[in-house]
Order: sequence, then structure tokens, then C-alpha cells
Amino acid sequence: MSPRIGLLGFSIECNRFAPIATEADFAGRTLFRGKALLDEARAATPRMLAELPGFVADMDAAGAWEPVPLLLAMAEPNGPVEAGFYRVLLAEFEAGLRAALPLDGVYCVMHGAALAEGDDDPEGTIQTLVRGIVGPDVPVVASYDLHGNISDADVATIDVLIGYRTNPHMDMRERGAESAQMMRRLLSGVRTHIARVRLPIVPPTVTMLTGADAPVRPYGELIDLGQRRMAEAPYVGRVLNVSVMGGFAFADTAFNGLTAVVTATDAAAATALAQELAAAGWERRAQFHPRLITLPDAVDLALHAGRAGKPPLIFADVADNPGGGGRGNTMFLLEAMLRAGVSGALVGIIHDPALAAEAHALGAGASFTAHFNRQSASDFSKPLHVRATVVRLHQGPINCRRGIFANSLVDLGPSVALDLGGIVVVVVSRRVQCADPAFFEAFGLDIGAARVVQVKSRGHFRGGFDEFFSHDQVIEVDTPGLTSPLLHHFEWKNLPRPVVPLDSHVTWSGT
Ligand SMILES: [Zn+2]
Repeated sequence: MSPRIGLLGFSIECNRFAPIATEADFAGRTLFRGKALLDEARAATPRMLAELPGFVADMDAAGAWEPVPLLLAMAEPNGPVEAGFYRVLLAEFEAGLRAALPLDGVYCVMHGAALAEGDDDPEGTIQTLVRGIVGPDVPVVASYDLHGNISDADVATIDVLIGYRTNPHMDMRERGAESAQMMRRLLSGVRTHIARVRLPIVPPTVTMLTGADAPVRPYGELIDLGQRRMAEAPYVGRVLNVSVMGGFAFADTAFNGLTAVVTATDAAAATALAQELAAAGWERRAQFHPRLITLPDAVDLALHAGRAGKPPLIFADVADNPGGGGRGNTMFLLEAMLRAGVSGALVGIIHDPALAAEAHALGAGASFTAHFNRQSASDFSKPLHVRATVVRLHQGPINCRRGIFANSLVDLGPSVALDLGGIVVVVVSRRVQCADPAFFEAFGLDIGAARVVQVKSRGHFRGGFDEFFSHDQVIEVDTPGLTSPLLHHFEWKNLPRPVVPLDSHVTWSGT
């Protein structure tokens, strides 16, 4: 008989210090129900991250099954989710699950760093709801972003937790497929235990790179260690998954902290390996301190990049990363480069719907004074007025080609490339991190010919722009912003203290 598998998801990374996320933020990105959800997951360029497409494809390939698609709500990182919409989603999950019974299994697409107004652990809330409805014996598998903060409820309510293992996140589709393979094993009768050990370390996300060629990679080493150990005695055949969860500092929850999560067929193996990995993480605690380049030094590097034998450089505006809740519109780095006369530069992608609309009204070739941030001025998002020429207009849908958005469709809304005189800026109407070269190429801009590229992204750009820039051509710049990796800039209310890297005397009990 074909197993009936419920499919649902709630995926958003929430920055406590960013504005509230609304239904429109989900509707503009990924909000699908029922058959439309399944159709989208099977589409050639689905409008969603790749876990569910990977899960569905693997289940399709492995044999007969009956997908029961319920609801997937996914949005670009933002502030906590607005309470009214969150209540609507919870009610929909509950009604959909009850109507779908009997189910043989449930797959949950989660992030792990979601917040809602009044709820610091939406994943735990949703999974508790799922478990309560399907009962204790129905397999529930959840996949998480490695930036997930892991609560008690997150692990107590499911059978297998599968975290991403790459940062940038190049393995979302593989983790979806792995979730399907775990589901098949659970359906065949395998039973699991999950152990979790959390460290008093809240890693700034710039310290969490995993690529083998990354300059410093304590976090990548931990992930590698987990994969190696699970294939060795005494764990081989007993440990089913190792997920080293780096977490997301800006969620500011009581359960933040680098966490080893191990799923095994016996509790002893799960606990022993989770503790071993946590101890390895603690040994590396001194490496979770970010090192950024000052704004004046960054400008100096930009003036000389691509000249006199020096390589072109890519400047990451890590403190204004839409992929961490940043608004994608701070002007600090752009203004400094304009003032210094940097040329041969591409900058993107700046979120400013009013400016994009004005450029569309004026038309290609028009010259005007561009007023950045006329609508959304705030502490970080300050106005900037500069003469501009409209280079090229775009309606917004982009077929992404490389990195975390590869093979998916991302709609930037009405967008424009503006020439500010030596610096060409891409301005968009939907707030998205600049992770894919297609966000420049769609405007006819040649990344390979630029001396300087500036991206609103913390690190996912590395997975998209790596064909133009190696790690040593990446400059992470210290500017003010909602996603500054310098964590002492923020007023934390909930983080467990003392904690690395904020406090100087931090101890760990070993369990
Ligand atoms: Zn992430």
C-alpha cells in the first residue's frame, strides 16, 4: 500500500531587531497550499528553497507513495512573524492535518530560527501540533537550516532532525532527499533517539563557513568530524544523522547556542557522539570571533582593486544582509565609495521600491536625481541623493543559476540598473540577499569586467560569485546595520549569558 505522507513547512529566519514579517512577505516569496504546493515542488524552477523539491523527487523515484500537500510558508529573513497571520497559519496546519488523517508520515520543512510575536519557538509549536494530531507512532521527519536554534520541543516531537551541512547552503536539495530516505527507513520500522548538546557559543555567522577552501573554518571542521565519526566504530550503523547547528544569533532566544544534534537507533550512541562533537566545538571557541575590514580600509582597497596587477575584489556588506533580516538599503558603503571616486564598480541589490518605480516611469536612458530611502529612512537606512542615469529596466522574475537560489525562480519586482558615474547600482522592489550573479547579469552587467563588486549579503554570495572571486578576493566590511557580526553592538535580552564571543569568562559543564 502506498504510504500517505503529509507535507508542510514554515521557514523564515527571524532577526529580533528587524521589522515584523507580514503575510505579504510570505505571499511575495513562497505561500502554497494543497495541489499547488505539490505542483510547484515538481516544477522545473520552483518558487521555493530546494528541500521540498528534493524530498518529492526522491520519494517519486523510490516507489509508490501518496503525497498529501498541506501548506508551505517561506519568506526572506525578517523580524518576528505578525501574530494574526501566525495564528492563521497554525489553524491551517491543524485543520489540514486533521482532514488528512490517516497519515503514515509527515515531512516538515523548517528553518529553526523563526520567531512569531509572542512565540520564540514556532518550529517547536508546529511540530508539537503535528505530533499531537498524528500520535506517537507516525514518523515525523524535519529538515532544518544550520542557522536553526534548537529548543527542547524541536527535538522531542520528531523522529529525525536533518540540518544543512554547507554554508553557503548548497545542499538543501540533498537534505530534502535525505529526509525522504529517512522517511522510508522509519516506514520500514526503524525507531530512533535524538540527543542534543548545546554550547555557550553564539557564533557570528561570518565565522560559520564550511567550504574546504574557506580561510578559517572551525564550524566546517565540526561538520566534517561528525560525518567522519558516524561512519566509524562504534557509531557506524547506529547513528543515522549528525547535524551540527550553528544557530542564528539575531533571533535572541533563551535556547541560542551552537548545538550538536545526533539521531541514532539507540540513545547511548546518540548521546555519546553529541557530547564528543560539543567538546570539539568547545575546543575551537576562540575561533568564533569575527574579523572585519574598516570602512576607510575598504574604500582604499576598492580604489586600487583591479589596477596595477591587483585583483578585482568583492565587498560584502555583511551588516545589511537581507538574508539575515537586513533591509538591503543602507548607504554607508555605497556613499563612501561614491565620495572616494571608486569606478568600474557594480553594487547590488538595493531594496528601494519607490526609486525603482520612478526609474520605470522615467524610462531607459533618462537622467535624474535618485533619492535613495525617501520612504524608509531609519537609523541605518539613511537618505542619499545622487545623479543617476537609467541603464536598463527589468520586470523582476529571475531564473537563478548559481548558489543557494540555483534552478529556482526569484522575483525581484520592478527593478532597474542605475549608473551613478563609475558605479552601477541594481535597485529592486523585493528585498532579497544578493546571492546569485543573475541579479546583475539580467541587466546586461558584466561581473567579470568589474574591478569592484559590492553585495548586500553575509556569505551566500560566495556560493554564487565563486566563479569570479576566490575567498581571498572577498572583503567583509564593518558598517552599521541590523546584521552586524559584531554582536556587542546589540542589546540582547534573551541570549543565555555568559556566552562566547560576547563575554570574557565563559565556562561549559561538558554536557
Ligand atoms: Zn541559513
